[in-house]
Formats: sequence, C-alpha cells, structure tokens
Amino acid sequence: MPDIQEIESTLGINTNAAIVEPIQHPVLAYNKIDLHIKRDDLLHPIISGNKWRKLKYTLLHALTKGHGHLVSMGGNYSNHLHALAYIGYKLNIKTTGLIRGEQPEEDNQTLADLKKWGMNLEFVTRSAFRELRKYRGHDAEPAKKYNGFWIPEGGASHDALRGVAEILKEIDRDFDTLTLACGTGTTLAGIAKALPSTKKALGFSALKGGGFLEKDIKKLLRTKGMPNWSVNFDYHFGGFAKTTDELISFIEEFQSHNNIPLEPLYNGKMLFGLLDLIKNERFKKGHNIIAIHTGGLQGNRE
Ligand SMILES: *Cc1c(COP(=O)(O)O)cnc(C)c1O
Repeated sequence: MPDIQEIESTLGINTNAAIVEPIQHPVLAYNKIDLHIKRDDLLHPIISGNKWRKLKYTLLHALTKGHGHLVSMGGNYSNHLHALAYIGYKLNIKTTGLIRGEQPEEDNQTLADLKKWGMNLEFVTRSAFRELRKYRGHDAEPAKKYNGFWIPEGGASHDALRGVAEILKEIDRDFDTLTLACGTGTTLAGIAKALPSTKKALGFSALKGGGFLEKDIKKLLRTKGMPNWSVNFDYHFGGFAKTTDELISFIEEFQSHNNIPLEPLYNGKMLFGLLDLIKNERFKKGHNIIAIHTGGLQGNRE
C-alpha cells in the first residue's frame, strides 16, 4: 500500500505554508465584514493549490490498483494537466494529456512544462474533446489504449472530494461562509460535503452558461438537495478565460492593498464578485468569510 504522506513529502507539498490570513480592503471596513483568505496557492510552488487536493486520493487510488500510467484531458493552459505532469515526473509515473484543439505552432509555457516533465501529449479536435467529457470512471475507454487510469477533466472524480475536505481541517478560525471559484465544481463539492450544516459554501462560476455546474456538483455529492452550498453565475466576465479592463484593474487594486498574487481566470473573478456582493450589502454586518485561494498562477505566464 503506497504511503500518501510519504508521497506528499517526496513532492514537497507543504500544508503549513497554506496559511489563513486577513484581507484588507476599504469595502470590508465600511461594511464591517471580516474576510480571511486560505492561501492554498502556497501549498506547493508548482502543483497548483486545489489541483493537489483533487489529485491526492485519485493518485492513491491509481497506485493502490497498481496503475503506472495516468491519462487525463485539458486545455492548452490547464492547471490540472500542469499539476499532473509534474506529479508524474517527480514520482516516475507515466502521464498522457489529451489536449483540446490543434497543436499550436509554438508552445506556451504550460505546454513546454508538460513536455519537459515527460507528459505524452495528444491533440484532439474540439468536438472529440467534448465527447471525452462524458467519461468519468477510472476504467473509462480513453485510458484503455494506454492501459492506463482515466482522470476526468479538472480531476473531477469522486476520489477528489476527500482531498478537498482536508482544506477545512487546516482552517483554525470560525467562519460563517466559505467562498471559492468554480470550474467543474469539484472543489465546491468536496467543501460542501465536509462542511457543517450551520455554515455555507458559495461558489463563483468562472464559466458562462455553467448550467451543468449545479447538476454536476449534485452528482458528485450523490444528493438532490443543496442544503449548504450555492453557485453565483454573475461574475464570469464574458466566459472562461475572458477578462475585462474592470477585472484587471480590480486585481491591480487588490494587490495594492494585499501582497497576494491573483490570476484573472478564477480567483480574480471570485474576489471581485465577493467584494461586489459585500458592497451591495448581501452579507450581514459582522459576517465572517473565508475565501479559498485555489492557486492557478502558472497560467499567468505567456
Ligand atoms: C481548476 C481551478 C479551479 C476550479 O476548480 P473546480 O474544482 O474544477 O471547480 C479554480 N481555481 C483554480 C486556480 C483552478 O486552477
């Protein structure tokens, strides 16, 4: 049986670095809201925050079953594939990434890293990529060709929930609401599953038309209800990977108040949305909020 603690130490995962720290912003003082941030971006210099949380027990599952080849899918800038490739490289496990769309003439820094870390890359058409999204089980068809272990896009598997829940154990202060950015919603599902019923989780969708999101989260949680979680769809800024000048200047302004790096795909949108809701008095005075910084900063490079 592989020892997951030993694996974390081999990889250099450092939960002590992922501190909870206070956020300064004029909107907070004015509305008497207490906001802290859980710095999961500091969990590891390369393996981006929530991607390790989601992969931890998926990896253990694969290794326990004796699999030596992990197969997954993602876009050109995928934080998930970036984390997976590095894990494979450090642990000497084969990895394959099925990448959305045509191979670009020149590699961006994410793709260059994937190659450097020995990930086998295969570029698939956008329509074939969409088809791949239906495969959820670890023994799914696309991995069979490689005799490998399938990991759905973004690491969205049931195994992911247990690793995500560990974030909560590292939060040593009381709070009313926990907020985070959503792509597949797997991180939100893991949080909601572990959260006491007296507390709420609020996700901010990074995608436009994320109608699938609530359904997918319910599927992961194997429930019909939404007792302690919800998703806000008002701050996607035009869709995934889309930004506006307003969002970029918000991120710059946020960084002038706090020494915390943000990227515009997920955490910038989440914090913009959260502070906007606070400004519009959607939380009672004295409310305690913890935002989870899910990382993703590698995607900030060209
Ligand atoms: C992947 C990612 C998310 C989305 O996580 P889901 O579990 O897919 O909802 C959020 N933030 C960052 C930085 C990410 O890389």
